Order: sequence, then C-alpha cells, then structure tokens
Amino acid sequence: MVDAPPRTNRPGLLDGLDPEQRAAAVAPRGPVCVLAGAGTGKTRTITHRIAHLISSGHVAPGQVLAVTFTTRAAGEMRTRLRALGVEGAQALTFHAAARRQLRYFWPRVVGDRLWDLLEGKLRLVGQAAQRAGLGTDAELLRDLASEIEWAKASLISPDDYPATAVRVQRDSPAAPQQVAEVYRAYEKLKNSAQVLDFDDLLLHTTAVLEENAEVAREFRDRYRCFIVDEYQDVTPLQQRLLDAWLGGRDDLTVVGDANQTIYSFGGASPRPLLEFTRRFPEATVVRLERDYRSTPQVVELANKVIGAARNRPAGSRLRLVGQRPPGPEPRFAEFEDEPTEAAAVAARVRTLLDAGVAASEIAILYRINAQSEGYEQALAQVGVPYLVRGGERFFDRREVRQAMVSLRTAAADPPPTELVTAVRSVLSRVGLTDQPPAGGAAKERWDALLSLVEVAEELAATVEGADLPRYVAELEQRASAQHPPTVEGVTLASLHAAKGLEWDAVFLVGLSEGTMPILHADGDDNAIEEERRLFYVGVTRAREHLWLSWSLSRHPGGRRNRRRSRFLYGLLPEQHPAARVPRAQAGKSGPKPRCRLCDRPLLDTMEIKLGRCRRCPSNVDIELFERLKEWRQERAKELKVPPFVVFTDATLLAIAEQQPVDRGGLVSISGIGPGKVTKYGDDVLAVIQGER
Ligand code: ATP
Ligand code: MG
Repeated sequence: MVDAPPRTNRPGLLDGLDPEQRAAAVAPRGPVCVLAGAGTGKTRTITHRIAHLISSGHVAPGQVLAVTFTTRAAGEMRTRLRALGVEGAQALTFHAAARRQLRYFWPRVVGDRLWDLLEGKLRLVGQAAQRAGLGTDAELLRDLASEIEWAKASLISPDDYPATAVRVQRDSPAAPQQVAEVYRAYEKLKNSAQVLDFDDLLLHTTAVLEENAEVAREFRDRYRCFIVDEYQDVTPLQQRLLDAWLGGRDDLTVVGDANQTIYSFGGASPRPLLEFTRRFPEATVVRLERDYRSTPQVVELANKVIGAARNRPAGSRLRLVGQRPPGPEPRFAEFEDEPTEAAAVAARVRTLLDAGVAASEIAILYRINAQSEGYEQALAQVGVPYLVRGGERFFDRREVRQAMVSLRTAAADPPPTELVTAVRSVLSRVGLTDQPPAGGAAKERWDALLSLVEVAEELAATVEGADLPRYVAELEQRASAQHPPTVEGVTLASLHAAKGLEWDAVFLVGLSEGTMPILHADGDDNAIEEERRLFYVGVTRAREHLWLSWSLSRHPGGRRNRRRSRFLYGLLPEQHPAARVPRAQAGKSGPKPRCRLCDRPLLDTMEIKLGRCRRCPSNVDIELFERLKEWRQERAKELKVPPFVVFTDATLLAIAEQQPVDRGGLVSISGIGPGKVTKYGDDVLAVIQGER
C-alpha cells in the first residue's frame, strides 16, 4: 500500500524542503526528533512543520508553543513563521514563555500581582556573601552568582549543594558549605524583597503546573503542541518545565545538534536530545547531513574543527556535506596587536560593503562581550553602522524605557496626527534629533530611538488605520517577547549570542589562547571541549565569507606574548605565513616541531608523531583506536605481513587522536606518506567515519 501524500491546505508549502526534512515536517502529531549538524535546516524544518500542522488543520495556531534559548533565536523563529504565513503561534524563549504564564496564573495562585523581576543578582549575592563572611570581591561575587544559577538550573537546592558539588567534582568558587550558605541567604533576601530572578520564573511556573491541578488542566487545554529548537542546550530545570507543560502527553518535536552544546557550564546537557528515542521509542527520528547554509569551503573547515573534538557522545559524529556553490577560501590573519586587528577587520568590512554585501549580513563575533569595544571604535572610525547584540537588552535600555513611558502617556490621549509623525514628535522629547550625533554612545541611543520610529513606519504600512494605542500595544508585545526591532548595521555579538543565526560574512576575532579558549577553561578537558564547540558554532554561522584573526599582543608596542588559538591547529593553509610546520618533516634546519596543544617544543619521535608533548592530555578515542587495530589486523593478514608494516602503533594512535577527515589530514601525520595514503587512505578514513 502506498501512503497517501501529506494533505496540506497550502499547496507548495513544503516545496522548499528536502525529503528528510519533509519527513520530519509531515510526521503525524507525536514525538519527533531531528538530530543534525549546523546549517542543515533544523529550524527551517520545524517552522515548516508548524505551518504544515496548522494549515492541514491538525492544530490551531494558538495551541502551538515553540521555545528556544536566546531571544534573538526566538525572534528569528517568529520572523520565519511570519514568512510562512503563520499568525498566532507562539515562539519564545523558555524564560519569556514562563514569565507570561506566571503572570497569567500568579494572581489566581498567589493572589497578588506578579513580583518584579530582579535585574542582575550581584547586589543580593553581595549581601549574602558578606553574611557568610566571604567578602565582596567583584570577581568572587560574579562566580558565586553563576554558581547559584548553575545550581538552580540543575535543580539543586542549597541543602543539596555541598554533597552534589563534591559528587560531580564541581570547581566551586568557595568551600561548598559556604557556597550553600550564600545561596540560602540569597534566596531569603530575594523572597523578603518579593522579587524573582530569571530561574524563579521557570521554577515557579513548574511548581504551579505540578501542584495546581486546575491550572494545569487549563494550561494543557490551551497548549497542545510543543516544539523545542536547540534542544541540546536544555537544562534539567527547563526539561522539568517542559515535562510540566506536556503533562504526560507526547506531542513534542525537538531538534538539535550535540556538537553545538555551549551551555554545559550553566547546567545544560545534550543527553535529553540524544536519549529522546529511549524516552519515546515510537518517535519519528530524522538525521540531516546536507548543509544548505555555507559554501563547501566553510563546511570543510567546520568539519575539521569538530572532527578534532574529543569525547564526543555516541550519535554526534557526522560529516556535513556542503550544498552551496563554492565560495572564497576562509581567510586567516595574524596581527601585532588588538587595535591593528580591529582596524583591519573594519577595513575589510568596508570592502565587503563596497562590494554590495548588506551591513545586516555581516557579523563580528567574539568570545566575551568586553571585546566589542575595540570593534565599535574601529567601525565608527570608518563610518560603518553597527549594533551590539547580547549586551544590554533593547527594551531595558534607559532611553527606550523613557521613550515607552512617554509613548504610553501620549497614547492615553492620542493626537489627531498620523502615526509616524506622532511617534517622532513624542520621541523628539526624549532625544531623537533630526540629524544623528557624531558617534559613540550618543549615536547608539539615537539609533535605538530611530528604530522605534521604524517600527511605527512598518506598522503604518501594514495595518490600516494603526494609531498610537495600537503602536504602543505592538511595542509592549515585542517587549514581553524580547523581540527588538532590527537596526541596519553590522552585528557585533558574542559567540553565545550568535547561536542559530547566520550571516553572509562572519569575522571570528581574537582567536588567541586565553580568549578562545577562554583562560579559565585551561586544564579542564570538558571546558576546553565546550570552547571548541563554541568555536564550531562561530565557524558555522558564515554563509560565504569567513575571516579568522588573532593578535600577538594586546596593546601597540606591547609584549608579543600571545599565541594563536589551539583550535586553529591544522586549519591554516600551509602557505600561510603564520602556519608553523609542526612536524619532523620540517627537517633539522626548519622550525622545531611544537605541541599542538600547549605549543612547547617536541622532544622525541613519539611526541612528534603524536603532535603533542607527553605532558598534554591524550585525546585519543580509545574505541576508534581499537577499531583501527582490528582493521590493521585484518589487512596485515590479507597482505601476509606483520601488522606494524601496515602502520605502527604510534601512527594508529596519532590517527585516533587527530581523526583526520580527509587524505590531506592523513598525510600531515608523520609516518604516513603518499604511498600509504594511496594504499590505505580510504580504508582508514572509513574506519574514522565509523563506516567500517
Ligand atoms: P543551526 O544548527 O545553526 O541552528 P539549522 O539546522 O537550524 O542550523 P537552518 O537555519 O534551518 O539550519 O538552515 C540553514 C540555512 O539553510 C537557512 O538559510 C535555510 O533557509 C537554508 N535551508 C535549509 N534547508 C534548505 C533546503 N531544503 N533548501 C534550501 N535552503 C535550505
Ligand atoms: Mg537552527
């Protein structure tokens, strides 16, 4: 019997999907899991699935709740849904969804208006730390605050903290008992001030749904279909909320990529994604390999970056296959100091703009927010507009809050003028001038106000008769969903904030040891792997142009004591001036081979073969090493030679550590020449890929 084709009331809706994506989109309501690499169309698949379920009458828009992790990604999802003609389905972050629900149910359950949200917990953590005798060192307070966040996201109470911290070998910022004390005092202070922190939104919503049958019934009647994007980054707390939403039902679609897990430090884990089918054995599971986002050049680099990852969980090894036409090779650039690097990036941005790339299609991504400043200055100097993401949230900005107050007041007694004029006139009172100020913070404030005018223009153009009250309602809705208006400009964002997004041109800057990977990850294998995944997320944001740069010193004329990131090992083209020849092949007179992990000179042939010194941890994949040995055994038998003639143990070990993804990678391992590659290359690559 042939299955009937999927029924959709919107012919052509699913045309833009490949067969695997389509299978996930049209799967009947119930558990669906898409496990796939970056740029393979996971987000596209779920937005189409939502559109399909709605247009075929399987679910009403208001019954759909789609969640993700960053406000920007949620905004992206809404934009894509709107483009597919979906109105009324919710796409929010976990926090925004919980906040809305709590606001709705709180008066009924607690009998009061919802407590205010605590803006930053440092002040209260400071008071709590002082009580615990821990002082007020700013860095310690920040670490304590993140530790409390980790504990709450991991569903660990103050009482349970000490034992758990010991069990999971947590690198606690103070003695576990003291951390617990601070955590307890913080909770107390917060409750007596009647404020909630971000995690409380999730905790309380979960509790309300778990403990109040009537509320749970009403909620579950309203929401029936749940979709989670970026599921690899779910925390135990978010999972608990998700389970409370589901209430035993199974109408859940999850998509994710374990290789993009970048929030483990905050308690997230890819396990629920990887074990989804264990929980729902009847789930429709789809794997995607075609990368539609990036050129083959970018995809190749991405494969190399993630191919070097260690301790990857089963099921997360994959090789992306680029679908786009070829583009330029990724560029690598080394600079004397940071201002020179920033100036070069700004100049290159200018060139791209002149060549017709839109400013909104360019992003400069860095590891920590403090890096943005140098780039802001450099861009301002060459007159390129930019916007900083992931810094202060748009609707929390002072001038935006002021503007909202004025707009609300004006809307109570709307003037008889046309909307855009009315908005401009209100905003002129809070600092919107006709001409933009020269630059810096004033220009940024001006841009923010101008983008409010643009929202008015958009509304006037799309909604007939839109007036000031309607406009204010639109802004409030955006504010509660944290959906900031787009400002035309080059994006400056941290790698964390860039998740799920894409640009034509991406600059990954500051790729030096201590920044990428971040200093405090050093010496902790798991933390280093998380940094590597973060780097992978960065690389896979680029559609076409990818630039990777670092500098040798911080200030002009400073000590050139920085080294480029270990993650760049094996990525630089050989002819690149900064590419160091890492191996013995360099010959006695050439540069000394160095450890690919710590950059120390290598001492003997074993070290040279492994490409690392003995002091650095081995990242050998033992299981792969065993498989390689098995293969060597078979091959040696066939050829009637001793196994070491095929490859020595040291060479196999080097292969199992470095896991080259192509012939080029194989040849670069010492002990593997072109002859061996011809004889065994395909076999070995197949073993590495798990195909043998
Ligand atoms: P990430 O892991 O980074 O979140 P993703 O898997 O969610 O990536 P998408 O953002 O959905 O990937 O898709 C990447 C790009 O490829 C988007 O521009 C999308 O429109 C495009 N794309 C996806 N599938 C197809 C397809 N079948 N045909 C053409 N373009 C596609
Ligand atoms: Mg996505």
